[in-house]
Amino acid sequence: MAFNIAIDGPAGAGKSTIAKKVAKELSYIYVDTGAMFRAMALYCIRNGVDREKEQEVSKACEEITVSISYENGEQQVLLNGENVNGFIRTEEVGNTASTISVYGKVRTKLLELQRKLAETQDVIMDGRDIGTCVLPNAQVKIYLTASVETRGKRRFLELQEKGQACSLEEICADIKDRDYRDMHREIAPLKQAEDAILVDSSNMTIDEVVAEILKLVKEKQQ
Ligand code: C5P
Repeated sequence: MAFNIAIDGPAGAGKSTIAKKVAKELSYIYVDTGAMFRAMALYCIRNGVDREKEQEVSKACEEITVSISYENGEQQVLLNGENVNGFIRTEEVGNTASTISVYGKVRTKLLELQRKLAETQDVIMDGRDIGTCVLPNAQVKIYLTASVETRGKRRFLELQEKGQACSLEEICADIKDRDYRDMHREIAPLKQAEDAILVDSSNMTIDEVVAEILKLVKEKQQ
């Protein structure tokens, strides 16, 4: 049976950085589900679909195919066959993804793809509802969080490094908005699964978090 690790948590908690490292250590596949929602958001932005209107977004879902492939171990997201990895890491796309991810049609569309990926291969999958909804039987579940200030600062430095103009206040406000939406939506809200282990990375280095997760996996595999 495939071994599945689920990592959920709010925006900017470090899920993808950590999941990538854990995947490398274990030779597992890393599945970034946020990137799939971002690809759908990109479609809406490019095609003038009003993200606030559920009906419009649901209709757009019928025109979208999201799939993934791997290049040198890096996940690539394909939107109707086009590799859109280079276009999905902006605040605009992230905020649109957060808005449209509350709609049932959007979530159902990606659920099957996510489950299929984990069925036959060892994966570490990150997102918001992986432990609670997508992979309820994952052998290891982590809820990774950090304070808003820590997460805001991390994202600020990340964007600065990429040369994208931004303000720390705006980023913290965005993070709070996004947390609220992700935690309060009706379908598959962000919350810690009952059997998930809480890891607060506010005062931990990346390597410390990675070591903690590897320890939990080892314990489970014994
Ligand atoms: O993790 P990332 O910031 O790339 O995700 C973008 C948005 O997609 C999140 O704010 C969240 O609203 C949505 N998402 C989700 N369920 C997931 C992964 C992401 O609703 N499993």
